[in-house]
Amino acid sequence: MKLSDPLMSGEVALVGAGPGAEDLLTLAAAKLIGDCDAVVFDALVSEDVLNLAAVGAELIEAGKRGGRASADQQDICDALVRLAQQGKRVVRLKGGDPFVFGRGGEEVRALAAAGIRFRVIPGITAGVAAPAMAGIPVTDRSVNATIAFLTGHEASEESRMDWSALIRAFPVLVFYMGAKNLPLIAARLLAAGMRGNMPLAVIHAATLDDEQTQTGCLDDAADGRLQAASPAIVVIGEVVDARRDWRGGE
Ligand code: SAH
Repeated sequence: MKLSDPLMSGEVALVGAGPGAEDLLTLAAAKLIGDCDAVVFDALVSEDVLNLAAVGAELIEAGKRGGRASADQQDICDALVRLAQQGKRVVRLKGGDPFVFGRGGEEVRALAAAGIRFRVIPGITAGVAAPAMAGIPVTDRSVNATIAFLTGHEASEESRMDWSALIRAFPVLVFYMGAKNLPLIAARLLAAGMRGNMPLAVIHAATLDDEQTQTGCLDDAADGRLQAASPAIVVIGEVVDARRDWRGGE
């Protein structure tokens, strides 16, 4: 079976939509989005990608049922199972890669428990795509042999993470969902011994119309001189100095 083979009736494809630009979709993603009965999508999925949906396909924004703003994961899982049981060919479209901070695991467990046939189409995750768009190599031979992808939620008051161990093991840190907590993240890293002039980049809305890259250092983030608006990827480490802007100030 090829990933891009047409979906069967009652089958669900968990599809990574990449960071936003439709030309960063995989061929399998584009084919399945263009040939299905229902697309269940998250807020981060771009208009351009949704425009590829098959004519007549039902477009359902996950979690917007009943006028509530935020998604209830159980409702989404129930909706996927229900659509599949109605015999629909369903594309569950998630930003980036479905299994990277995307709760895709919960959805495939629900589908498997209900006996629904499903497949998974990986996508380009924002933690790799956003730095690339900014010209930052997330690994560079002279800087790092390891890399950590983290969620910014971990910096919250209840954080039980060992931040000193983290910075010893990983010369490059890539934070998802770190915009709101950026000053707190920076404070924790400083407290754990990271130097204040460690280079840092914030890439907002990579590949989208309002894309913006800011660079500075850890101290800038700690004292609020450098702020991030969601959605943003925060890259911390010397690879930021290896940045070569190839977009010509686009
Ligand atoms: N599954 C997604 C991540 C979902 S968590 C993936 O693999 O990319 C949501 C976070 O992803 C956002 O808070 C932000 O940190 C990041 N993100 C997603 N799209 C982005 C984009 N176009 N530019 C910058 N960050 C993005």
